[in-house]
Amino acid sequence: MNTQRVAVVTGANRGIGRAIATRLLQDGHLVAGLHRSGEVPDGVHSVIADLTDPDAVSAAFDAIRKDLGPVGILVANAGITRDGLLIRMSEEDFGDVLDTNLTGTFRCVKAAARDMMRARYGRIVLISSVVATYGGMGQVNYASAKAGLIGMARSVAREFGARGVTANVVCPGFVETAMTAELPDTVVARYRERIPAGRFAQPEEIADAVSYLASEGSGYVNGVVLNVDGGLGMGH
Ligand code: NDP
Repeated sequence: MNTQRVAVVTGANRGIGRAIATRLLQDGHLVAGLHRSGEVPDGVHSVIADLTDPDAVSAAFDAIRKDLGPVGILVANAGITRDGLLIRMSEEDFGDVLDTNLTGTFRCVKAAARDMMRARYGRIVLISSVVATYGGMGQVNYASAKAGLIGMARSVAREFGARGVTANVVCPGFVETAMTAELPDTVVARYRERIPAGRFAQPEEIADAVSYLASEGSGYVNGVVLNVDGGLGMGH
């Protein structure tokens, strides 16, 4: 049985983040859901913050520390897409995706790491994407940010590994959420053909992998990139 920890999940109001928050709650943790809109699942402590605002992120972690205690688990899940071919991609669309998906994650990791270092225990899970290593047509911004998360996790793993803190990356393939609902049918059909599983994932299947990496039992697993993609990336 795991010790109960304070777990923070970003983007816990919908999609994959919501499924992860629900799962960590079932695993017996005290879960704080960081969100900027909507509602978090019942039983999850709601904390409003926009990841693009450093002061808001810092205040959110202070509030979680005060209300629930020091953070033991961080799942940095929130992310956006602003797809477009490179030739037409604006600086703004590149910068916005980097600011939310990469810098926003940095802000959360930095805020949580303090508690973890002190406690000599921590589990950091960054939600990247199969496109981090596979590349994605029209996703120069998104793939750059998601690849950056791998470098971030591995650097954190080196900095904090001796203090009982792990940092790992989960790379989902295609998951049935609002993010993929935007994809044109032709793109969906093309991808489905390339996925050995022959289908998209449900958010709960990503949450299962996160649950393991957030558990005490995964303490010797560090700096790993775990694809949960039905075989699409073949582990790359
Ligand atoms: P959704 O679009 O359904 O949800 C994204 C979440 O991120 C929402 O909760 C959203 O909040 C939150 N968010 C976005 N920007 C900010 C911000 N500035 N501050 C705070 N919260 C923010 O996405 P998914 O559930 O599909 O994806 C979750 C993660 O998984 C993302 O990082 C995504 O890149 C990754 N992923 C998803 C895949 C998929 O197929 N769905 C595949 C591979 C990776 P709000 O509701 O307020 O907008």
